[in-house]
Amino acid sequence: MNGQVPRDVIEYQLIADEPIVDLDVSRGGLDLSLSVEKAAGEPLGAEIASALFDQVRTCDNHCEFCFIYQLPKGMRKSLYLKDDDYRLSFLYGNFTTLTRFTERDLDRVLDKRPSPLYVSIHATDPEVRARMLRNRRGAMSLRWLRCLLDNGIEVHGQVVVCPGLNDAAVLHGTLAGILDRFPELETVAVVPLGVSKFSKEEAMRPHTTAEARAAVKAVLEWQERFSRAVGRRVVWASDEYYLLAGLALPEAAAYEGFPQHENGIGMVRAFEESFEEAPTATATEPPAPGAEGVPARTGFFAWVEGAPAEGYRAPRTSSVSLGVTRAQKGLPVTVLTGAYGGHVLRPLLDRNGFGEVAVLSVRNEFFGGNIAVAGLMTGPDISRAIAEHPSGGRYLLPDVCLSKGRFIDGSSLEELPVAIEVVPSDGASLRKRLEAAR
Ligand code: SF4
Repeated sequence: MNGQVPRDVIEYQLIADEPIVDLDVSRGGLDLSLSVEKAAGEPLGAEIASALFDQVRTCDNHCEFCFIYQLPKGMRKSLYLKDDDYRLSFLYGNFTTLTRFTERDLDRVLDKRPSPLYVSIHATDPEVRARMLRNRRGAMSLRWLRCLLDNGIEVHGQVVVCPGLNDAAVLHGTLAGILDRFPELETVAVVPLGVSKFSKEEAMRPHTTAEARAAVKAVLEWQERFSRAVGRRVVWASDEYYLLAGLALPEAAAYEGFPQHENGIGMVRAFEESFEEAPTATATEPPAPGAEGVPARTGFFAWVEGAPAEGYRAPRTSSVSLGVTRAQKGLPVTVLTGAYGGHVLRPLLDRNGFGEVAVLSVRNEFFGGNIAVAGLMTGPDISRAIAEHPSGGRYLLPDVCLSKGRFIDGSSLEELPVAIEVVPSDGASLRKRLEAAR
């Protein structure tokens, strides 16, 4: 394209936005040259099949808490690929530890300025970080974070807290280290370790309630310090932490615009706001999935299937209709969700006059352990839940647990014992569907 071979969709897009694109196509023994003239920024008219055209940079860490090591055997191959590629960080919001980041990568970031990037911090103490990543490079790789921030690159951070490893005093030390060394970070998400029944790491265990409370307390204390020092809260505990701790979630305005919404920070409050259609004056609506410049769904499960055919940032369920047929009207409605979602949905529906709508919390037996998020629901668990509590009416399912119509275990919607209606995972879409059903 214009004399260059793009390595990924970032380079592709920059060239494709040019008003004149000269293409040299070489495929199946055919060599072809053509030139496309169009307005600058107008789509080229070509589809891309994958976000990276060269090889994904894989991760050289061996974290005890890695969820990929906690997957059962026999799932589709793409799920076992550990990436640590800053390009996927920019494109999909995947977190990178920067242990494989190089001078050349820094040059490229400073040249193309992709932003924001997402960096796994876990601990600022070099020894603790190297131990957590099981990689001696983990001790030093945060120097790249310093370089990125020095050059004005927008970066979000994450701390996965493993009880007994980087919680308590280590967590306080990490948040102090962030304030001291990386105060320009946009946000830091503090999330609890997820443990599936397939984990072989004996030291990895779920938080106790007391540990979850201590982590939330630590984050709230540091929010105050960050606010005083840099005028922003910067650090947030994930919704999962509050649910584990049995504590009330902060008000929506406390999330300062939901900058880490897709990583489970403020998702509950954003969902409630969206459902109740009453955003406060100070709280910004979270960006709509698929909106301009916003990835449809960030994180590991989003990118493994490759870029959506209609564009690498297309909405996940663009064609979902929120209407209902005449035959569906008046039928009992059941909303399927994970165990955490059940805690939130029931009171939300009751206080908004939807007491007749059933909520079916799907226990995650596929992964077991403490896995309770809606995004990791699987087909067999949903089938079991429906068999145990048949309602005979309509079932609504959030799209967050599906990628191209398949659950993470590889089963499809068609394999479920009843017809399921997939609904976008925001509150307004659910409400619209529920109101239309009456
Ligand atoms: S850096 Fe991420 S992908 Fe790599 S081992 Fe650790 S948790 Fe897994």
